[in-house]
Amino acid sequence: MLIVQKYGGTSVGGLDRIENVANRVAKSKREGNSLVVVVSAMSGETNKLVEYASHFSKTPAKAEMDMLLSSGERVTAALLAIALQEMGVDAVAMTGRQAGIKTDGNHTFARIESIDTTAMKSALDGGKVVVVAGFQGISQKGQVTTLGRGGSDLSAVAIAGALKANACEIYSDVDGIYTTDPRIEPKAKKMNYISYDEMLELASLGAKVLQNRSVELAKKLNVRIVAKSSFSNASGTIIEKEIKEMEAVLVSGIALDRNQARVTVREVSDRPGIAAEIFTLLAKEQINVDMIIQNASTDGTTNLGFTVPESEVERAKEVISAFDHDIGGMDFDENVCKVSVVGVGMKSHSGVAAKAFSAMASNNINIEMISTSEIKVSMVINEKYGELAVRTLHDAYELDK
Ligand code: ADP
Ligand code: ASP
Ligand code: MG
Repeated sequence: MLIVQKYGGTSVGGLDRIENVANRVAKSKREGNSLVVVVSAMSGETNKLVEYASHFSKTPAKAEMDMLLSSGERVTAALLAIALQEMGVDAVAMTGRQAGIKTDGNHTFARIESIDTTAMKSALDGGKVVVVAGFQGISQKGQVTTLGRGGSDLSAVAIAGALKANACEIYSDVDGIYTTDPRIEPKAKKMNYISYDEMLELASLGAKVLQNRSVELAKKLNVRIVAKSSFSNASGTIIEKEIKEMEAVLVSGIALDRNQARVTVREVSDRPGIAAEIFTLLAKEQINVDMIIQNASTDGTTNLGFTVPESEVERAKEVISAFDHDIGGMDFDENVCKVSVVGVGMKSHSGVAAKAFSAMASNNINIEMISTSEIKVSMVINEKYGELAVRTLHDAYELDK
């Protein structure tokens, strides 16, 4: 079997842990598998590098950020290959470029365009374990790019797709996908299966156990992911196409996104085209606007509220100040979070949203914004109630049963 394994930051968070990974890889190799192993930077390393850069600049150049951030993964790839070689396992370490990962030029959030698998294939044919530095690729201009935070998951899925691997195993410190973050709700239950669509919603709504773009790509390429722990031999969770058994489930999980800020633009001139202008400019600056609320106009102006990731607040401020003549002012609230209920079964059931709102009410938690789709209900609330809301909703939908 050809297996792509990905080990995240905690799994390679120290030399002893890299050794643990080497042992696991060696075991799978000895069982007769061909292996490509994608690694993250040691946990905390990428954040440390971001901080280093911020010592010098509030707005460091993105190309240089990519050069900087991609280094963390190279360190672990090299160390893991060295550890494997020392165990008598033939291994070779590759950067994203050496592995043939070609991306667009969108620095710090690049999209993989294609993978030239020649080098990986020839190493595999030679019996080597290929260790690839995750999270990175190379642009057409030959510059290093990175794939967005959590992007090693994306590297693994893309490689599994390109090599038509038999399995794509993603290892972290949890042994699968739970009904909610087990660190917040210890009663959370592990799922045996989850559909791409539900996983995509959970990941996009804050469950960082898998990067959302990696799930999107897995769905597109039909790569079956197995989420497992590098610290145990538990069976894990399979992420794949929706199957009959799943349709019966009304709600499959609860997600919490702490990294949200609410923007309120006050007294916006109530004229056609103003919303288009504001949101077009925000999109141009690649600011991820999520929930949007506009109040009914009373005196010829309206209030416009929306959420953005906390890290994009500064840039959002700049964009909106360009509309000075059209608005009364703006407020920002970073003390908000978004809690979401996800489930494919919602498509065919009513009352799911009402239950969520009642659960918030019974705890006196004020809902500031709401948005829904076919398979999710999201609420923006005060950040201090985030974890309580997760546990309350987990209880309300009896997810521990
Ligand atoms: P890695 O560093 O290996 O990429 P992450 O830290 O990105 O791992 O993801 C694993 C973490 O995701 C877990 O420690 C857990 O706290 C968190 N998590 C959030 N939501 C969930 C969920 N629904 N199921 C499992 N883990 C979750
Ligand atoms: N090291 C990168 C990050 O922390 C990528 C990854 O771990 O997947 O975001
Ligand atoms: Mg991760």
